[in-house]
Amino acid sequence: MTYVFAFDHPHDVEPMSRNALLGGKGANLAEMCSVLGLPVPPGFTITTEACRAYLEQGWPGGLDGELAAHLEALEASSGKRPGDPDDPLLVSVRSGAASSMPGMMDTVLNLGLNDRSVEGLAQRTNDERFAFDSYRRFIGLYARVVLDIDGQPFDEALDEAKERDGVTADSAISPPTLRWLCRRSLDLVHSATGFGLEQDPARQLRAAVEAVFTSWNGARAFTYRKQEDIDHSLGTAVNVQAMVFGNRDDNSGTGVAFTRDPSTGDPQPVVDFLVNAQGEDVVAGIRKTQDLDALRMRFPQVHAALLEVFERLEAHYRDMCDVEFTIAQGSLYLLQTRVGKRTPVAGLRMAVAMTEPQGGERNPWRITRDEAILRMTAEHLEGVLHPQFDDASGAVLTIGLGASPGAAVGRVCFSADAAADAADRGEPSILVRTETSPEDVHGMVAAEGILTARGGLVSHAAVVARGWGKPAVVGADAIDVGDHSFSVTGADGVVVVVREGDVISIDGSTGQVVLGMVAVSMSGPPAEFATLLSWADDVRGAAFGVRANADTGADAIVARSFGAEGIGLCRTEHMFLADDRLPVVRRMILASTPEEEGAALEELRVAQKHDFEAILEAMDGLPVTVRLLDPPLHEFLPDIEELAVRAAGDGLSPEQVDLLAAARSWRETNPMLGTRGVRLAVLKPGLYAMQVRALIEAAIDRRRAGGDPIVEVMIPLTVSGAEMELARSWVLDAVAEAVARGGVDAEVDVAVGTMIETPRAALRAQDLAAHADFFSFGTNDLTQMTFGFSRDDVEGRLMSAYLEQGLLVHNPFESIDADGVGQLVRQAVVAGRSARPGLKIGVCGEHGGDSASIAFFYNSGLDYVSCSPFRVPVARLSAAQAILRSRIVETPG
Ligand code: PEP
Ligand code: MG
Repeated sequence: MTYVFAFDHPHDVEPMSRNALLGGKGANLAEMCSVLGLPVPPGFTITTEACRAYLEQGWPGGLDGELAAHLEALEASSGKRPGDPDDPLLVSVRSGAASSMPGMMDTVLNLGLNDRSVEGLAQRTNDERFAFDSYRRFIGLYARVVLDIDGQPFDEALDEAKERDGVTADSAISPPTLRWLCRRSLDLVHSATGFGLEQDPARQLRAAVEAVFTSWNGARAFTYRKQEDIDHSLGTAVNVQAMVFGNRDDNSGTGVAFTRDPSTGDPQPVVDFLVNAQGEDVVAGIRKTQDLDALRMRFPQVHAALLEVFERLEAHYRDMCDVEFTIAQGSLYLLQTRVGKRTPVAGLRMAVAMTEPQGGERNPWRITRDEAILRMTAEHLEGVLHPQFDDASGAVLTIGLGASPGAAVGRVCFSADAAADAADRGEPSILVRTETSPEDVHGMVAAEGILTARGGLVSHAAVVARGWGKPAVVGADAIDVGDHSFSVTGADGVVVVVREGDVISIDGSTGQVVLGMVAVSMSGPPAEFATLLSWADDVRGAAFGVRANADTGADAIVARSFGAEGIGLCRTEHMFLADDRLPVVRRMILASTPEEEGAALEELRVAQKHDFEAILEAMDGLPVTVRLLDPPLHEFLPDIEELAVRAAGDGLSPEQVDLLAAARSWRETNPMLGTRGVRLAVLKPGLYAMQVRALIEAAIDRRRAGGDPIVEVMIPLTVSGAEMELARSWVLDAVAEAVARGGVDAEVDVAVGTMIETPRAALRAQDLAAHADFFSFGTNDLTQMTFGFSRDDVEGRLMSAYLEQGLLVHNPFESIDADGVGQLVRQAVVAGRSARPGLKIGVCGEHGGDSASIAFFYNSGLDYVSCSPFRVPVARLSAAQAILRSRIVETPG
């Protein structure tokens, strides 16, 4: 087993495709080094396999030997040796998992320095400041990462050193003070561990590699993986690389760059760099960074070289990349690259823009429309629909950098724990920090939004929030963050103090921070939204439809504006719950004679007819599936306990007495399995007849008004062919009656179908298909009944325990359980179509808006999905992606 690969190892395949083994950073370093020939300092990667072996059974046999051999090769290529008292070889040790986990695991720089070699470095470079600055950094990092010592005293010592010299910049500390700082840091190590700092470079290296392996299982890495759905068993690779020094002098520096703007998607590169600085200084957001223009002024040659590198990287990766670079005494080195994270808006705009020619004449490239569709994630598409401030007239406290778009409102919390506690209480919060670090991740997950006083667009807070689509404002430097309050000094010198628990609102697009609650609204998505979705629709063609679940004319209008191709589920009970309908529904339930019941139904018919007209008008020319009443009757009755309490107290009116009796008689222990759906209609047959009549009359009126109503009637909760046959006869009789009443020109075609939402319906789909023109899977109920999980209770009580303990991989109410519920779906499709070839089949459970489920439904042969109006765009995208992916599978090679 080979555990270590040099960056220039001749791999059989493109190194960048070996992410799983080399980690993202290692794979891309190898790609830049061996394929692109870019200036990458030499080094090697210890594989994720080594990490997994270590985490399972300790330090792998043979790894020491491989490390020694690779160090030797590094010595040979650099002409230096680690620990050499005259001219030491220094290396960096960095983690690099297969999926990027920014800042989640650890890095050690300048490894190889010790008490003797630092003197050699000072002499060889003739630069004592540089040598001791490098050593103090190494001691601090090694102490924190490898020895797990609290970093605070090291930071305090650094502050003290600056105070001693009366300077503010780290790079301005004098050599004697740096010597003092190194001694102080060594003392801190000694007092924390009882031992001095490890002096042997080989042992330093082994300990650092071990620390990086171990950091894979650290709490913050664990939290991050949970949030990002990354497999905990993958492990991380470790990259060991010869150091180049951005802290060498003022002709040196370090920076990070994006080949185009990761916030907006604009084609200009974005650079954040610092002169005379090393490693994490930029990302830490501690010093104010400079931009691309400043780089051009100060390092014109590096600027030109960097732009060329950007162009080559983009052409090679065919995407926006981010880059970490160092300028060492005027020479450019690349330390890392990868396809860069971006905001949802930027992702959308870039995907569309990249279908046009890119890279000029020297490095031409473009992506296809299909690739653009496949690049867009459902989360990013949803993110484009992020909320924005509704009105900008609130009291703006300050404006920081808009780092991650979207508006958020919440109570101010000053620690990650406080934000997590607020989330547990169900309270929205804004996490306010001077800057964030990976230790804050659990609070960042919990908060609605993030506000920091320091840091730029590539600071930890910005990168992490953007990746999650969570609103963030960073670098709001007018705010001064304390333990329980922050103060803001306005331009007029007035100081405002905001305390823990006060409400603020932030806008991650404009950077505005506002005191109090601002109303938020949806922003219009950019033009590329419609473009990309129209391409997705071209891919779908007529092969796979997207409809909406909508219950009112207003919802139907929204759904159509989002591109819904009809309504897949109109839940008619929502019409019954309206204020003016509920008393009538109750009268129908309380009726003691057929006449009373008939009168109440008549009143409901008139009201429902208007509702149906509005829906049919909004969806003119598109199919509208109306589901006849589904929920059990007690849902329309008042709460028993409440009435009983009132009865015991002030007493009840005669009507309330009747309602209490009715509520008691219709009461069910598990209502979701009781007298609902078609079963209710068996007990109250006039109910469905009334609904169908209202619907058909609405359709006739629409037709007379010149419209094109397309009506489908759907029966809920059926379990057998006999039941479906009976229900169908009610519908057809009611249609015939309505048409006859309508007069000579009253012609309406009606399809009658059923939901498949009980396991028996799925198992006996052929029986139902004999009497159904279409099926629609009600996967909410089908999931409930297949698992025996009550849909009302399980998600709150059980689901998180099941997910945490790995008893379920995901919540089956969110994403279809392909193995269990899915098996029923697949078999019902086959059985249904065997009885009725060409049977139209859709799905209208919540799963109809979930990407993974949509792919499953497409691959199971469904004709359409139906989901809530706001999820329609995502469903259109996901449906097209499912089709494109199935083509890739069909055409191997
Ligand atoms: C379903 O069960 O999946 C469904 C769409 O119906 P409802 O959620 O209204 O029960
Ligand atoms: Mg249902």
